[in-house]
Amino acid sequence: MWIVGSIIFGAIVGSFLNVCIYRIPKGESIVFPGSHCPHCQQAIPFYDNIPLVSYLLLRGKCRHCQGPISLQYPLVEGVTALSSFLLFSRFGISWSYLFYFLFIASLIVITVIDLYHQIIPDVISLPGIGVGLIASFILPQLTFLNSLIGILLGGGSLFLVATFYQWVFKREGMGGGDVKLLAMIGAFLGWRAVILTILLGSLIGSIIGIIIMMVKGKDLKYAIPFGPFLSLGAAVSLFCGQTIITWYLHLNK
Ligand SMILES: [Zn+2]
Repeated sequence: MWIVGSIIFGAIVGSFLNVCIYRIPKGESIVFPGSHCPHCQQAIPFYDNIPLVSYLLLRGKCRHCQGPISLQYPLVEGVTALSSFLLFSRFGISWSYLFYFLFIASLIVITVIDLYHQIIPDVISLPGIGVGLIASFILPQLTFLNSLIGILLGGGSLFLVATFYQWVFKREGMGGGDVKLLAMIGAFLGWRAVILTILLGSLIGSIIGIIIMMVKGKDLKYAIPFGPFLSLGAAVSLFCGQTIITWYLHLNK
């Protein structure tokens, strides 16, 4: 029963995250007004705003104007629901579930906004650093010192990642937004996870970058945002970090 509840709760939060993704870059309020269709501006009634279900029932079209509803909406709702389920399965009803779910939700919003606009909003990453530090006083698996070193290492590793990125893509690609994001990741997950996140993010980013270069030709004109790769690396660190570290240490025996 609780498992089902965690999935439904995740989908509802995911629906709210879609609102944040749409409105934060525009500087609009995330509370008022209610949801509107971006094509015909018609207000969306509650029965057409049920996470995942409405998209399927409406077959991805606005009831009023038949305009297409972006696949982003069910995707974000689905990924948020899955994250809630995975965290709940591991932590149950606990502060750990609450803080890590907040963390993952922030990463989802940052990822999609960065993909669309190539920016990482400070209104998410900066408070995120503070919330992560507060979490270190409450969560048993995170000490204050670990969180603090995580922030410093995440913020200070700009040089390392920027150099690596420049080496791989032959141009500057790191922004200040990525640094604040890494500091937030360090605050929530500690300094080991920062290192793992940089390694995983760079690895995934390089693979995707090389694939895009092969498909689109050598000339990589447009910027590939780094935030989504860092977010993905952080999520992998959270869910399987211990497994990866154990495996790595075992390799070096
Ligand atoms: Zn419409």
